[in-house]
Amino acid sequence: MVLYVSQTFQSDVPLAAPMSCCCNCGSTTQVNPISTDLRRMPMLGLAGAEIRFEFPFPYCDRCAVTARRLRPTALGVVAVTCLLSIVLGMGFLFLGPQLPEETVTMLVAPAVVLLSFGLVLAFYGLRRRAPGQTSYYQPVRLGRTTHRWPANITKLELRFTNRAYASIFASENQQAVVAGQLKVSAA
Ligand SMILES: [Zn+2]
Repeated sequence: MVLYVSQTFQSDVPLAAPMSCCCNCGSTTQVNPISTDLRRMPMLGLAGAEIRFEFPFPYCDRCAVTARRLRPTALGVVAVTCLLSIVLGMGFLFLGPQLPEETVTMLVAPAVVLLSFGLVLAFYGLRRRAPGQTSYYQPVRLGRTTHRWPANITKLELRFTNRAYASIFASENQQAVVAGQLKVSAA
């Protein structure tokens, strides 16, 4: 297991979230702000740190659940694959046929790991967004951040899956964009 520090940062960048429509599907009915926990893991987590930043974005009732759906990380996929391999491996040892140890090490073990990896990928691949939605996961991603280490975020990049909302957000926060504190893009 890889240990890493997860820290929530405050932002020095003045941000305002336009509440006119849902930031995922664009619906304008029953839109409410939901604090969205954005995370970024530099270098796939190898740096041992995760940058977290919370900000309220608008969601309609249907998309509210996506505010909490974090994208799977490479680290997460590896961890789940390991766990599943152990469970399947134990199952084979207890319930499977008795095979010579060499066969187990050379054939069964790699097959179990490959099978687990395939199952994990299939599981994530089966997750589909609902019609009209722009994302199954959080519709906002935290891009590059600049810090006055170890303090607040001084510059940040936000990537939206909803192109229309991205441009509304950019124009609402034009001052920060012009000042170079904020970069908005469509993912
Ligand atoms: Zn929506």
